[in-house]
Amino acid sequence: MGITSPYIPLRGIGIVSPYLPIGLLKQAKEAAKESDDHDLKDKLSEVYDSFLDLKELIGNLRDENNELRKQLEARANVKWDGSKKLYFAEGDPDPFCPACLDNSGKQIRLHYERGMTGAVIGLRCRVCGNSYHDR
Ligand SMILES: [Zn+2]
Repeated sequence: MGITSPYIPLRGIGIVSPYLPIGLLKQAKEAAKESDDHDLKDKLSEVYDSFLDLKELIGNLRDENNELRKQLEARANVKWDGSKKLYFAEGDPDPFCPACLDNSGKQIRLHYERGMTGAVIGLRCRVCGNSYHDR
């Protein structure tokens, strides 16, 4: 067995050490090909498959982490107005739904809710359906 490069580039993580398990597992699988021990081969294949599952899980977690980071950044751009009990983006008079932002981190704009006379009676979120009257 031979290693062509001592370093393995891994997307998102960068260059990692030669001790990364996948490299060792590949070497172990190669070495086991010449063995007559079928139990060893099976076990190595299972470990290898499990590792690939873990790698996929890490990728999914990384995607989720990126999504959460974006939500945090978006949230940092809105400010809570304690008197109106609504979120506002700087320089933007239209508020965001506090329930949606607090629950899921989503910035959902509120729309005017009008009464029978056509007068504005409050604000309504078209996603969660909450109404806000304290403007
Ligand atoms: Zn909402």
